Amino acid sequence: MLTVDLSGRVALVTGASRGIGLAIALKLAEAGASVVLTARSMEDDVLQQFEAVRPSSAIAICGAIEQPAFVSDLLKQIFARFKRLDVLVNNAGIMRPGVIGMIAADDINETLHVNLGSVIHVTQAAARLMGRTGGSIINISSIVGVQGTAGQLAYAASKAGVIGVTKASAKELAPKGIRVNAIAPGYIQTQMTANLGEDVKAKTLQTIGMGRAGVPAEIADAALFFASDLSAYVTGQVLGVDGGMVL
Ligand code: NDP
Repeated sequence: MLTVDLSGRVALVTGASRGIGLAIALKLAEAGASVVLTARSMEDDVLQQFEAVRPSSAIAICGAIEQPAFVSDLLKQIFARFKRLDVLVNNAGIMRPGVIGMIAADDINETLHVNLGSVIHVTQAAARLMGRTGGSIINISSIVGVQGTAGQLAYAASKAGVIGVTKASAKELAPKGIRVNAIAPGYIQTQMTANLGEDVKAKTLQTIGMGRAGVPAEIADAALFFASDLSAYVTGQVLGVDGGMVL
């Protein structure tokens, strides 16, 4: 039987307190990795879920990922504890919908800093540590960053930017043995999408060939592929995981 074995590898997952990030982190732990979870806050039951997978398979370090000082401290703590980093999942994100003319300046700035600026900061800090052993960086973009959608100007810009970061860093880091790929999820059931209006949800479902929303575990399966040696010769790619969504 073919199994994905990440034993001995260390992974950092941002936005790991719930939703897609938590599902990815759990999947990596199930595959044997030691996982560092980060988010602004972490409920106690999150680490308990990892204890059930494998005792001491995860630690949590909390802070705001758009703050370069926090990112620097986070990577220092990872170095001090593990001396290596093999997998980075840049997943933390926020969505502030708003039609053109109604988007507040603070929402633009915060969306770009959290969704895009953090990916650049964490990539820079992580690449230094990964440069010792090689590694895999997985950036969570969105179908909205590939195709655009009405009412999400800043979010679409941030997620398109993540694809730019993915392609540019894949080129720069390939000689160091660091692969960089992106996943572009479609409509996935999480807290982020739970807040959308019922009319928006119904309209979105109509755009999905498979006729249903995805679940976080389906994004985690794609992340496991990129994290493992199954994708050893894959870099600079954007994988849509969207059930055949046409925005
Ligand atoms: P959730 O809102 O469920 O989770 C977001 C995660 O990011 C939480 O762990 C949150 O923790 C963390 N986070 C938010 N802001 C910050 C911050 N400033 N600093 C550190 N951590 C932060 O969202 P999803 O799981 O749905 O989304 C995960 C990623 O997937 C996002 O990048 C999103 O854009 C992307 N995506 C989601 C889709 C969907 O349909 N759900 C579709 C396409 C892409 P806390 O608030 O405690 O900090």
